[in-house]
Amino acid sequence: MLVSTVELYYRTKRAASLGLTGLEGIGLDWPAIIERNDNIVGSWSEGADVSLEKKGIAILRGQARFTGPTELEVDQLRRRVTASRFVIATGSSPGRPAIEGIENTISSDGLLNRKHLPDRMAVIGGGVIAMELGFCLARAGTKVTVLQKGPQVLPGVDTEIREALEEIAGQAGIKIHTDVKVVKVDSDRSVTAEIEGRVERFPSDVVLVATGRPPNVAPLQLKNAGVELNRGGVRVNEFLQSPTAPHVFAAGDVIGAHQHTPVAWYEGQLAAHNALKGTERKLDLGFLPTAIFTIPAMAQVGLTEADARDKGLQVAVKRLAMQHNPAAGVRDEKEGLVKIVCEEKTDRLLGVHVLGAGAEDLVQIAAVAMRGGLTRADVSAMHYVFPTLGGAIFDAMAASA
Ligand SMILES: Cc1cc2nc3c(=O)[nH]c(=O)nc-3n(C[C@H](O)[C@H](O)[C@H](O)COP(=O)(O)OP(=O)(O)OC[C@H]3O[C@@H](n4cnc5c(N)ncnc54)[C@H](O)[C@@H]3O)c2cc1C
Repeated sequence: MLVSTVELYYRTKRAASLGLTGLEGIGLDWPAIIERNDNIVGSWSEGADVSLEKKGIAILRGQARFTGPTELEVDQLRRRVTASRFVIATGSSPGRPAIEGIENTISSDGLLNRKHLPDRMAVIGGGVIAMELGFCLARAGTKVTVLQKGPQVLPGVDTEIREALEEIAGQAGIKIHTDVKVVKVDSDRSVTAEIEGRVERFPSDVVLVATGRPPNVAPLQLKNAGVELNRGGVRVNEFLQSPTAPHVFAAGDVIGAHQHTPVAWYEGQLAAHNALKGTERKLDLGFLPTAIFTIPAMAQVGLTEADARDKGLQVAVKRLAMQHNPAAGVRDEKEGLVKIVCEEKTDRLLGVHVLGAGAEDLVQIAAVAMRGGLTRADVSAMHYVFPTLGGAIFDAMAASA
């Protein structure tokens, strides 16, 4: 919501090119935007609580911890709960790296609670949350500096798409530094960091730490239930079942693999089904579309070109710059591209990557095609509505290279 409001603001500010006038005074009421964000998110979980209770599911509010293999204690209620099966879905929390002065930083939760837009923000981290919030605040008017430990931001993203996004980030005024070692954060919110052997100082008003979200496992005392961990998350098999405690299942961020809302919903249903009915359903995250809500957004399904080549596949690549999509031209949102990765011999779709307006919706066309086993030629031969942003997917499939 926050991102969509800022995106609307950013687009409206540029709308003089569409012939709109009177836009000079447009501004952002940041406290109102944050309040609206809170209300919408709150209404989602309230609605969920009511519908669960209507279905006869009792909700105990408190911190749960295992006291034995089949027993939990809910701390605040001083209540013990026994069960023959458990599903753990405790999510994740912002990580707090061991940096001197970490108390002078805030997490994404803290930033989303902050009622004022900072003039300058330093972001420690270069993953999804760092880039989403970095773009959002930069488009709202904050000067943003991203300090990434590794050699690039958004490491899982297709290289070409990432490079195109980095160029757009530069135009948005976001400064990205990679291979950075953050040394300390002072109480005046200045960040001291080592970059290529130099020590640099980044004065800021807010320092956002976005270095990943470790699964919420510590308070659960999982050892008491015999549940093992894997890279900090609950270790599960293909049935989302703990191999060391088969009566315990897990779903969502607490597994520590794919931290996305639809994955948590899907895994929650699957884990609950397997816990209640026996291990019938296997996890299938093939053709999972994901989006990163930068402005513009980026989205992907399947393999990156590099992943496909690493697997030894003979790869063909097709591309379409969004500037060649008539709907993007109509909306004056011509940044970005669609990239199709397919198997050279069979034309099988291996991956589709989108950067640009509506990327989060466009990628779903590709996900459906891939799930349905359509080839690149099948999709390129389909009819589509003109002019639409979605047309870019079909045209990219038909592109010469
Ligand atoms: C800034 C930000 C932006 C994001 N944007 C997107 C996006 O655009 N799209 C997307 O798909 N995903 C997004 N995500 C990721 C998404 O929010 C998570 O993947 C999703 O919420 C995970 O759901 P979950 O049910 O596993 O955990 P959660 O939603 O975190 O729920 C876990 C629940 O367990 C409770 N809990 C924790 N410990 C205990 C305990 N010991 N006892 C009892 N209860 C406990 C918590 O209070 C919480 O209510 C975003 C995340 C962040 C931080």
